[in-house]
Amino acid sequence: MSDRVYFDWNATAPLRAEARAAVLGALDVVATPSSVHSEGRAARAVVERARSQVAALVDAEAKEVVFTSGATEANVLALTPDLVARGRQITCDRLFVSAIEHSSVLSGGRFAPEQVERLPVTTDGVVDLAALKAALARATTPLVSVMHANNETGVIQPIAEIAAIVHEAGGLLHVDAVQTAGRIACDIAALGADMLTISSHKIGGPQGAGALIMRGVQPAAALLKGGGQERGFRAGTESVAAIAGFGAAAEAAASSYEASADRMAALRDRFETLLKHTSPEAVVFGAQVPRLPNTTYFSVPGLKAETAVISFDLNGVALSSGSACSSGKVTQSHVLTAMAADPALSPGALRVSLGWTTAETDIDRLLIAWKRVAAALLKRQAHAA
Ligand code: PMP
Repeated sequence: MSDRVYFDWNATAPLRAEARAAVLGALDVVATPSSVHSEGRAARAVVERARSQVAALVDAEAKEVVFTSGATEANVLALTPDLVARGRQITCDRLFVSAIEHSSVLSGGRFAPEQVERLPVTTDGVVDLAALKAALARATTPLVSVMHANNETGVIQPIAEIAAIVHEAGGLLHVDAVQTAGRIACDIAALGADMLTISSHKIGGPQGAGALIMRGVQPAAALLKGGGQERGFRAGTESVAAIAGFGAAAEAAASSYEASADRMAALRDRFETLLKHTSPEAVVFGAQVPRLPNTTYFSVPGLKAETAVISFDLNGVALSSGSACSSGKVTQSHVLTAMAADPALSPGALRVSLGWTTAETDIDRLLIAWKRVAAALLKRQAHAA
């Protein structure tokens, strides 16, 4: 596989060396962290070290971190009507989620479907703040969930501003920071989030670990009931090795993301410039607003993303499309639908996402592959004309 180049970091990132070492070390732990004997205390120490490392990544306190099986579980755990906010039991009557959220948030968690409302976004993919204010007036105690950056477009949401609006209306804010933690500054206090979700495998940790970070607000009841692990928020023996790898990845990401961000932005910008040069009709979604430094989401009219992904793959390039094919039917990206994207562009949406090991030569390979895909498209269009 060394001959291949990987541009699907928003789906998952390769394991960092530090995370691999931590996972391997923790696999030799012989007890569960709940046991009181020395072996149990050793396992507990591994988990608590990771908790501090994960907390540090988002400037939280270790005691605010609850480990889960991933971001999906953390999102569903957070989205519950029954919360304890600053020691007081409250019931949220409505859940507002942006229309571009990950499916785990769009599912509404433990809210009844009729209590869940989707917030519109602008054509740039930014949450419509006027619509948010109007929506909040329709609830007594609203819970709002908005992602820090979108996984398809990379568009960064004005979370601090959203937090101020939500809190002013007497509501609470959950933020899915899966795509920003370890990539750009993601400080829970600066964001103003009451609850924050992050995932291990997006920052170079192993798959199957995540965290809900709770600042003064917590679910009143666990999602998984059983043993009292994770202060009663998440029953079940902790995946000590996955958590150890998550912690090590968080520490590595925290100390290196600033340098990586500048480098990735330069590589991404070079790709976009040359893409426009080869295909002037190319449209980059969300290009006019702040975006993650590693993400390009683009399309050209007439392109079919599903075939383009296969063609890139045959050329040694792994990337992803905005549309998904299931049971022979192609479904368009809900993100592009929410952005009211040109219907001529949506079926061809391709996502290129970079990471800390992406090199200049990888971009060269990507551009060569794109020229082939674009040439094949032109040929097909000429044939059809
Ligand atoms: N939220 C966002 C924004 C994501 O991109 C993803 C992963 N695609 C998730 C949540 C779910 O993460 P996990 O795979 O850890 O459940």
